[in-house]
Amino acid sequence: MKNPISNDKPRRNFIKKSAMGIGGISIGLPLTSALAADKYTQTKKLGVALVGLGNYATNQLAPALQETAHCYLAGIVTGTKSKEKVWMDKHNIPKKNVYNYDNFEEIANNKDIDIIYVVLPNSMHAEYSIKAAKAGKHVICEKPMAVSVEECEAMIKACKENKVKLSIGYRLHFDPYHKEIIKLSKEGSFGKVTYVSSQFGFTIGDPTQWRLKKALAGGGALMDVGIYCIQAARYAYGEEPIALQAQEFRSGSEKFREVDETVSWQMEFPDGKISNSTTSYAFGTNHLVVTAQKARAVIMPAYSYNGLGGIFNNEKLEFPRINQQALQMDDFAKNVVANTESKISGEEGLKDMKVLEAIYKSLASGGKRVTI
Ligand code: NAD
Repeated sequence: MKNPISNDKPRRNFIKKSAMGIGGISIGLPLTSALAADKYTQTKKLGVALVGLGNYATNQLAPALQETAHCYLAGIVTGTKSKEKVWMDKHNIPKKNVYNYDNFEEIANNKDIDIIYVVLPNSMHAEYSIKAAKAGKHVICEKPMAVSVEECEAMIKACKENKVKLSIGYRLHFDPYHKEIIKLSKEGSFGKVTYVSSQFGFTIGDPTQWRLKKALAGGGALMDVGIYCIQAARYAYGEEPIALQAQEFRSGSEKFREVDETVSWQMEFPDGKISNSTTSYAFGTNHLVVTAQKARAVIMPAYSYNGLGGIFNNEKLEFPRINQQALQMDDFAKNVVANTESKISGEEGLKDMKVLEAIYKSLASGGKRVTI
């Protein structure tokens, strides 16, 4: 199957050509990661400690850490006593690498742990990322990076002051479909990107969960999954939005008393370009459409862990299975070893948070245009 965006056959030739640096279109990782990969001679895997053993840590990150080449699951931090033995047995974790929220700071003395991965409810991200940085550990923090611009800035500062690296869990930067979109934008072989449309939503269940509590989540669907549409528009254009306006829609359900249910927003990019997005906790939707002067790419589903699909100018896009989270964590391990910055750095998370705050500001004003 031909890969139309890369103008190349998928997988074998695709990787071979990029490694050889030939072909009209540059393919593959950005320069920092490519350098990190080149310099990568480390044989010892870096140890990762997961903080917060909920659904994402249990069902995505821990299994992904079985597929990583440059890091492994070395430790856990949990407030639930009963999870300790289950995880120790399942993942062969020694007792000395098991922490709780009261003795978390002691992790500073543990040489097995190089990277702390914060997978807690959103409002706890800043606190635990800063604690991890102060413990001298490199940090991966889940999206959204925090619940305010102020917190994001404090996290970046803490990591800089403690000379540790910071990365945000933007797994899609390692997915081949999204890498193709980034390539489409960067290389310009199909002209400039002229329009981006994106939606991500799902029907939320349990009304008692933290995602529906403002104090823990910071916001609703927008904070949780709308952020993927912001990210996608930013990397599809390769530019930053300069202004936006947003609209909120509510069913009146008690569930959404504290947080947003459905939000649509339009972002303005330089030269009059726009993106159009909707996010929701009330219905499922999951796609990304990127229009360029001479092409259109449709990725659907676009934001899932696997099973992504796509069409490029009426040709089917297909890639072999990869593990987004394994690639993401390995890339960060290489950044740590090579002392290079993550392409999904704290600054990336901060940029999205500035957009999120602008969307909430627009909503609070009844939909007025807000400059970013
Ligand atoms: P979850 O509810 O399944 O897990 C949250 C964990 O935090 C649980 O282990 C819980 O015990 C612990 N916790 C500690 N203090 C808590 C408190 N006060 N209230 C509630 N839980 C508390 O949530 P999740 O789906 O695993 O999400 C965790 C983080 O990961 C969120 O920031 C979320 O946005 C992010 N996430 C990212 C992706 C992705 O694709 N990158 C996917 C899912 C979740």
